[in-house]
Amino acid sequence: MGNRGIEQIANDILTKYVKRGGVHKVFNEIMEAEGIKFREMNSLNADFVGALTKYSNGQSYIMLNRSIDNDGRKHFTIAHELGHFFLSHQLTQNSFYCLNDEIIEEGVWKNPIEQEANYFASCFLMPEHKVKNAFLAILSRSRKAKAKDFLHVQNNWTFGIWCGIRDDLMKRYGVSEAALRYRLQQLNLARFEFVSNKNTV
Ligand SMILES: [Zn+2]
Repeated sequence: MGNRGIEQIANDILTKYVKRGGVHKVFNEIMEAEGIKFREMNSLNADFVGALTKYSNGQSYIMLNRSIDNDGRKHFTIAHELGHFFLSHQLTQNSFYCLNDEIIEEGVWKNPIEQEANYFASCFLMPEHKVKNAFLAILSRSRKAKAKDFLHVQNNWTFGIWCGIRDDLMKRYGVSEAALRYRLQQLNLARFEFVSNKNTV
């Protein structure tokens, strides 16, 4: 399936379930409405992050490794598993056990099924029109920003602008900085060329 198709499916579900705010706030409602049971579990396998499984009675479960220690990663993982569900990946495979290096928030993964779920997660958590409007609104309010439609983040005054945008959008959409950066680059809103350990806050 192409990216446009995946994005369309994500947007249709968002229209159905999200009135305002980030989709991560209504994950439980979505799973309940779709008949998916959600379980956080302790796993001895540190590489295991999340799964979508269907039992023989037809019941689908989304499982999440309880030991994931940041909310952005948790949200991305649930969105990824919902991607397997809504993209009908279970038609060809009943269960998906997704490992840490398969659920990637910032890049392209070689397995097309995992890549589709990752792209879905990115679109689902950060829908284009919402992220774009929010990003441009903050940028246009910045007195320092020279361009009002694109931010090239480097080790200079642009880094301060980025920190303001980052803190706002990460909170709003419940995502990690890596996932946010990747999405903004994808939407052609920003480019990142800074050395992070020199100039982080
Ligand atoms: Zn997966």
